[in-house]
Amino acid sequence: MITTDALIVGAGPAGLFLAFELGLLGIHSHIVDAQETPGGQVATLYGDKPIYDIPGIAACTGQQLTDRLLEQAKPFEPVMHLGHEVVTLVAGGGDGGWRLGTSRGEQFHSSCVFIAAGVGAFAPRRLKVEGIEALENTQVFHWRPAPGVLVGKHVLVIGGDELALDRIDSLLADTQPPGGITLMHRRAQVKAEPDRLERLEALCESGRVVFEAGQVTALQWVDGRLAGVERSGPDGDLPPLPVDAIVVAQGLSPRLGPLADWGLAMDRKQLPVDTARFATSLPGVFAVGDIVSYPGKKKLILSAFHEATLAAFAAADLLNPQRSQVLQYTSSSSLLHERLKLSQKS
Ligand code: FAD
Repeated sequence: MITTDALIVGAGPAGLFLAFELGLLGIHSHIVDAQETPGGQVATLYGDKPIYDIPGIAACTGQQLTDRLLEQAKPFEPVMHLGHEVVTLVAGGGDGGWRLGTSRGEQFHSSCVFIAAGVGAFAPRRLKVEGIEALENTQVFHWRPAPGVLVGKHVLVIGGDELALDRIDSLLADTQPPGGITLMHRRAQVKAEPDRLERLEALCESGRVVFEAGQVTALQWVDGRLAGVERSGPDGDLPPLPVDAIVVAQGLSPRLGPLADWGLAMDRKQLPVDTARFATSLPGVFAVGDIVSYPGKKKLILSAFHEATLAAFAAADLLNPQRSQVLQYTSSSSLLHERLKLSQKS
C-alpha cells in the first residue's frame, strides 16, 4: 500500500501540470496512468503535430509540450506509475481519504484524489483472432514491444496509419532490430503524412519492410508457440506467412472504463464540478481537464492548466485546514524558490 497526500489519475497535460501546482504548495504527488508513456492525448494522438495556443509558446509539438511539463514538475519529484489503469476507488474507512487499486495490483491510500482522466484510458484496438490471448506480451504485442525483445525475429506489424509506422520505426531504431518486418493492412493504402509514406516506400524498396494488403484469419502453432499466420487478401486466401511475433497497431481508443463505477455524480460521461474548487460529488476527490463539465467549459489545454491550479489550492486548504493558503508568486517568493530547488540549480 502506497500512502500519499495526493494521487493523480491521468498523466495528460492536466495531470502533469497539477503535479507542478501541488508541488508549489508543498504537496508531493503520485501520478498513475494506464498508458506506458505520459502526455495523454497530446503525446498519443498528436505528438509530432504543432500546437499554437499554449500561452507564451508560439508553437511546440505535443511531445515537446509533454517534455516541458515533465521538466517543469521535476523539482517536486512526482512518482509516476505508468501502465497502470486505476480500476477501483473506495472510501478509506477509519483512515479517511480514499483507497485506489490498479489493473496491475498496486494499492494506494490517498488523502486527496485528482481525476485528470481526459476522455478515458487509451486502450489498443485488439486483433480478434482465436487463441491470441495466450501469446500476449510474449509473441503478440498490442503496446510497443520493449527494446531487444524481437532481435532477429520475423515480425508482422498489423495496421495502416501513423501508429503502425511509428512501431516500425521503433523496431528499426532498436540496437538489435528484428530479422524481417512485414506490414499488413486490410487496405492497399497506408494513411500517413507524405514524408512518412516516402520513408515507407524507401524501406520497402530496400527490402527492410514488405507491405501487403490482407487480414489475419487464424494463427498457426508449433509446440504451443506462434509459428505463422493464415491470411486473406483482396482476391481471396493467401499462402500462410511464417512469423515469430505480431505487433498490433490498429489504433488506440479511449474508454471511460471503471471510473463510471466509482459512485461519482456524472453527466453524459463527464464529471460535474464547481468552478472555484473543481470538487466532484465525493469529498476530497477533485477533477480537472477534459473529464469535467461546468457552464462554459472548453476542452483546451490552457483551461486544464487553470483548473489544475484551483484544484491544487482547494486540496491544500483541505489538507491544512488551520493554515489558509497565501498566494505567492514564483517570481519573488523565497519559499517557492526553495521548493523549486533553484539554489541546487545555480
Ligand atoms: P488527456 O490528455 O486525455 O489525458 C488523460 C490521461 O488519463 C490519459 O493519459 C489516460 O490514459 C489517463 N487515464 C484515463 N483513465 C484512467 C484510469 N482509470 N487510470 C489511469 N489512467 C487513466 N487542445 C489545445 O488546447 N490545443 C490544441 O491545439 C489541441 N489539439 C488537439 C488535437 C487533437 C487531434 C485532439 C484529439 C485534441 C486536441 N486538443 C487541443 C485538446 C487537448 O488534447 C485536451 O484538451 C487535453 O489533452 C486534455 O488533457 P487531460 O489531461 O484532461 O486529458
